[in-house]
Amino acid sequence: MAVERTLSIIKPDATCRDLTGRINARFEESGLHIVAQKRIRMTLGVAEKFYEVHRRRSFFDDLCAFMASGPVVVQVLEGEDAIARNREIMGATNPDNAEEKTIRRDFGESIEANSVHGSDSLETAAREIAFFFSDIEIVG
Ligand code: ATP
Ligand code: MG
Repeated sequence: MAVERTLSIIKPDATCRDLTGRINARFEESGLHIVAQKRIRMTLGVAEKFYEVHRRRSFFDDLCAFMASGPVVVQVLEGEDAIARNREIMGATNPDNAEEKTIRRDFGESIEANSVHGSDSLETAAREIAFFFSDIEIVG
């Protein structure tokens, strides 16, 4: 295991229900340190660029519209095995399939409005972190 950084996004369904603090507590209680964080509103263009890898998926347009529909909190989480650890804490993409006590099981509303995003590999994490943050904004 190694100390890693991963990009997390608290999605509009969660920010709109004032769940930011409760979701952040899940990360911190699990040993993931929030080393960068900002609340922003993505434009449709920014959401489309961020989710470029999904451009050909049937849900792409809906997903981008959803991500631009309200505030999001983008953040960098740091800790041992942070990428896999965060995906465990988030739970499966579809809240109905997510394990008990995961964020998506407890807070997610649907497969799209599933409250959080987390990078899925070291390479993706590096790209996604650089998409939103410069080096001086990340303070470990
Ligand atoms: P994320 O990338 O947000 O951490 P994930 O890796 O679990 O989630 P992906 O397959 O990368 O899931 O899908 C990206 C996002 O697209 C999902 O989190 C969800 O919001 C949305 N999504 C995925 N599958 C569907 C679907 N079948 N219908 C609607 N939205 C979907
Ligand atoms: Mg993904």
